[in-house]
Order: sequence, then structure tokens, then C-alpha cells
Amino acid sequence: MAKMKQSTATKTSVTNDAGSASFLCPNCGKTEIVRTKNERENVVKYVCEACGFTGPN
Ligand SMILES: [Zn+2]
Repeated sequence: MAKMKQSTATKTSVTNDAGSASFLCPNCGKTEIVRTKNERENVVKYVCEACGFTGPN
């Protein structure tokens, strides 16, 4: 069973979101940051759960 991905910022499931993006935290590299297409377009901020890094600034 595939792991369900959730948006880091909104906890929205992004399983079927073709425009979503996921990447490791640019600060600590420990947490996978997941963003939906909508969040990227609206520049919704995310917070790393491990180090508290706030992006995408
Ligand atoms: Zn981090």
C-alpha cells in the first residue's frame, strides 16, 4: 500500500495532485517537505517539523 503524502503546510493529501512537489528541508535535510500545486502558486509558507525552517523565503 502506497504511503499517503500530505502537504506540510495544510495536511492536504497530495496523492493525486500531479503538480505537487516534495523535497528535503533545505536547512536540515531531515524532513521531507511536501507542497501542492495550489500552495506553490499561492506561495503558501511551510515550516520544517524538525528544525523550524520556514519557506519558501
Ligand atoms: Zn529542517
